[in-house]
Amino acid sequence: MTIIADGKLLAEKIYSNIKAKVDKLDRKPMLAVIITNDNEAGKIYVRNKQRACEKTGIQSKTIEFDADVSENTLINKIQDLNNDKNVDAILVQLPLPNHIDSEKILNAISPDKDADGFHYINAGKMFIGQMPKTIACTPKGIIRLLDEYKIQISGLNAVVIGRSNIVGKPISQLLLQRNATVTTCHSKTKNLEYYTKNADLIVCAIGKPKFLTGNMVKDGVIIIDVGITRLDTGKLSGDVDFESVASKASLITPVPGGVGPMTVAMLIQNTLDLSIQYSE
Ligand code: NAD
Repeated sequence: MTIIADGKLLAEKIYSNIKAKVDKLDRKPMLAVIITNDNEAGKIYVRNKQRACEKTGIQSKTIEFDADVSENTLINKIQDLNNDKNVDAILVQLPLPNHIDSEKILNAISPDKDADGFHYINAGKMFIGQMPKTIACTPKGIIRLLDEYKIQISGLNAVVIGRSNIVGKPISQLLLQRNATVTTCHSKTKNLEYYTKNADLIVCAIGKPKFLTGNMVKDGVIIIDVGITRLDTGKLSGDVDFESVASKASLITPVPGGVGPMTVAMLIQNTLDLSIQYSE
C-alpha cells in the first residue's frame, strides 16, 4: 500500500501547537516580510505566509518596494528591522530584481532574526552540525514530515536530485546528519537512473514537471517531491510523475499538499523559535 503523505494536515497540526504557545505569550511574535512589487509569484507565497501567521496569532507586516529599489535602500530597511525590538524574524521574498545582489541582502539580515535560515552563519552552523538559530524551511519541513510518518532515515540510501542552496544542499546535509548514505545528483550527473534505481529515498528538487518516472525507481521507494511548476493549464505540477511513481512507492508526497504547506509551517515555527530565543 502506498502512503500519500499529507503535508497539509501535518501543517495544520503544527499551527495548532504554535497557536497554543503563542496564546500564552504576552508579546506576540512578529514576522517582517520584504518584497519587491515585480515579484508576482512571490506575492502569492507572501499571502500564504500572512494567512499562516493570522491562524497562529503571530503578527506580520509586509514592506513592499518598487522594482527599481536600490541595494542600499533594502539594506537600510533590513538594518532598521534588525534594530527593531518588536520584530523577531525577517524574510526577504526571492527572487529579487536582477540588479540586486541577493546574497548581500540575505546576509544583511541579523542571524538572530533570520526567518529562512539562509544567512551564511546559520547555513554554515547547520553544515558543521552545530545548532543554528534557524534551519531553511523546506529541508526542515521534509525531515519533520519523514519523522511524522516514522520513516527510519538512518542507513537509507538517499538520493537528492538538485543542489540549490535552499533545498538540495541543505536536505542532503540534514539526511547525512540522520545517518543516511546520501548522493546529491544534479544537471551534470551522468546516468541518473543508476542512482535513482538504487535509492530507498529520493528527494526531487529541480523544477521540471513529471521528470522522475516509475521506470527510474525501485519498488518500495520513499519519494519527496519538492518541485512546483505552474503549467499552462494553470495547474501545479511536481517534479515527479505521480501516477507511475506512486504505484511503486511506499510513501510519496503529492503536489500540491505535500512539501509546500510544510515549508510555510516551518517558517512560522522558525518565527516563534526566534521570538523565544530573543526574549530569553
Ligand atoms: P534551482 O532552480 O535553484 O536549481 C535546480 C537544480 O536542479 C540545480 O541544482 C540543477 O543542477 C538541478 N537540475 C536541473 N536539471 C536537472 C536534470 N535534468 N537532472 C538532474 N538535476 C537537474 O532549484 P530550487 O530553487 O531548489 O527549486 C527546485 C524546485 O523546487 C522548483 O520547482 C521550485 O519551485 C521548487 N521549490 C519548492 C519549494 C516548496 O516549498 N515546495 C521550496 C523551494 C523550491
